[in-house]
Amino acid sequence: MRILYRFGFNQNHTKLLEFLDKSRVPYTVDGIIAYTEMYADESSFRAVFERMKNEQAVITDRAIFTEEELETAEWLAVSSEWVTQYPEPKENMDYVYQTYDTASYCAGRPPKFYCRQGLTQKADFVVKKAPNWSTRAFCRLNWVGDELFLSDKAKEKLSESGLKGFSFRPVLKPSHVPHGNLKTVHAPHGNLNTGDEPHADFSQLFIENIAEIGLSASSVQHEYVCPDCGRKKVMLNSGFLEVTSENLRNAAADIVKSAEKIGGIGCDSLILISARFFRFLRENRLDSGLVFTPVKF
Ligand SMILES: [Zn+2]
Repeated sequence: MRILYRFGFNQNHTKLLEFLDKSRVPYTVDGIIAYTEMYADESSFRAVFERMKNEQAVITDRAIFTEEELETAEWLAVSSEWVTQYPEPKENMDYVYQTYDTASYCAGRPPKFYCRQGLTQKADFVVKKAPNWSTRAFCRLNWVGDELFLSDKAKEKLSESGLKGFSFRPVLKPSHVPHGNLKTVHAPHGNLNTGDEPHADFSQLFIENIAEIGLSASSVQHEYVCPDCGRKKVMLNSGFLEVTSENLRNAAADIVKSAEKIGGIGCDSLILISARFFRFLRENRLDSGLVFTPVKF
């Protein structure tokens, strides 16, 4: 495993460009943004990191795992790099109240602290358009970090896989009746809408089980405690996902969500899959755009 850093800055920042030229570090200019990427174990990393920090570059990092690390993991966290579309109704994030039971929801104290704990899905997601899958089989929606959505091809294959712990829910087209705002209803062509229709080739992979995975302190970069409800969420370090609980090993399912919540502004569970699930995705070429993080027990 190596940690890959990315340093982004304005392409007008000539001092930084000169510094990189002098240090013989290659960089890319993309529109108004310039960036360079570098592994933390490269010899010039420390000097570049310090300089970028001083010049207030935007610094992000992610772990790059070897094939062996991925192939030998008993469990892995999975997420989709491809983020598309928004849950509806998008206005004022009203989808939260349409899609989830909000009885124990806590918004926190935005913009100082966003909590967003306590949502349980009660209805199907509503989204304007089905994704253009191309070679990909899974996506995630903006604002919803802990659900995967999938194409019909992936759905058919998963249905026959023998893997456990999930079902499928339709993703609905928005109706003509704006949710929660009946005063502004217009009846197009004199027809009142009779309900939301499901999209073709677009479903939610509904994950049936939630498990405490026991996040190890070594994986936690920062912990937030909500001043209102007292519930916790954390930001994670890049690298292996280190856990202290055996719950994943003992799970009767091949996919679960963590009870632990991740996020600063957001608040999402991790999605975890068994080695069997991982191999199935790879063997069926359903893993395009998916990113995996091995779990360490
Ligand atoms: Zn709270």
